Amino acid sequence: MPELSAPLCEPLAPGSTIGILGSGQLGRMTASAAARLGYRCHAYGPEPDAPANQVCAAATVAPYDDVAALTRFAEAVDVVTFEFENIPLTTVEVLEKLVPLRPGASVLKICQHRQREKDFCNGVSVPTTAYRAAGDLASLEQAVAEIGRPCILKSAELGYDGKGQVRITAQTDLAEAWAAMRGHAAEAVGIVEAIVEFRMEISVIVARSADDSLRSFVPVENRHRNHILDETIAPAHLPDELADRAEAIARHLAKEIGLVGLLAVEMFVTHDNKILVNELAPRPHNSGHWTLDACVTSQFEQFVRAVAGLPLGATDRLCDAVMKNLLGEEANDWLKILADPGAKLHLYGKTEARPGRKMGHVTRLIRR
Ligand code: AMP
Repeated sequence: MPELSAPLCEPLAPGSTIGILGSGQLGRMTASAAARLGYRCHAYGPEPDAPANQVCAAATVAPYDDVAALTRFAEAVDVVTFEFENIPLTTVEVLEKLVPLRPGASVLKICQHRQREKDFCNGVSVPTTAYRAAGDLASLEQAVAEIGRPCILKSAELGYDGKGQVRITAQTDLAEAWAAMRGHAAEAVGIVEAIVEFRMEISVIVARSADDSLRSFVPVENRHRNHILDETIAPAHLPDELADRAEAIARHLAKEIGLVGLLAVEMFVTHDNKILVNELAPRPHNSGHWTLDACVTSQFEQFVRAVAGLPLGATDRLCDAVMKNLLGEEANDWLKILADPGAKLHLYGKTEARPGRKMGHVTRLIRR
């Protein structure tokens, strides 16, 4: 007998509308998965002709602080979720009063701020690298003295793909480092992190539904180029004990944070087999794109299931896979990629191929 999830309260009926804050490729792939389950999606974001808008049943193009537009959006949807963390907290707080928001604003509040995120992890006994807050130049000097050089200064908010990060070496002038970080996020406070000598970067994606069911995907290895994810190798080549520990950490964090939805947990595996959490993302994640082609249930379908109050799907891997991001001009090779009949190509509908911009990805399945 297959394992069945417990019955759920109030599953969202087919034909209902899921509102998605953010209109990038994660929203696009979520909307495609939602459509297969009979739902409509309504994207909300400031950019016209964004990747999600092209596949959603409806799209609102408006700034995140437009309360009138947010109110109309809330009236048009049955539940709201988000596809990236940098949504102003006030936006989700406005929406949460009008319509169910999954995951809730309290989850977003933790995950959009590196210090709150690390405080939360350590508070539930999940270790991170050593860190100190840096609210101004004087506290940066104090933080660097305590952590020791070399270390990394990151903006606590609004950072992604290495933006707002400065490596501090023995030679670094701290006033310049502070100015460089503030150049990325003018209002942001900083966090100073000890550098982790890792042997591998991994991530685990876990879903949790309102009835407390949890299902995670296997840990995968993430290789970066210029701070941007380049390749994901699924599964990560790790001893079973470490892989199990990584999944247990992700499940524990999902429960403790009160998640309803999807959580991606980025972790470092050190040379002495410690696992340290680096970042949390309460949404589908680039390192889970391989699941679209290689798993019984993809991360996007699982996200929709959790948000819509449906039973979670099986996360079994049908085969191993390697996912490669197509950044900037790399996506121009789409025809060459398609000439390999086993390559699963995904393009995000972006017209302008800026350097480092995620234009699509390709997953190669490794048959066992
Ligand atoms: P983040 O934006 O925190 O995900 O950082 C981007 C990338 O920078 C990570 O995937 C790592 O490769 C590297 N990195 C970030 N923080 C650290 C750290 N404390 N020690 C070593 N490498 C790091």
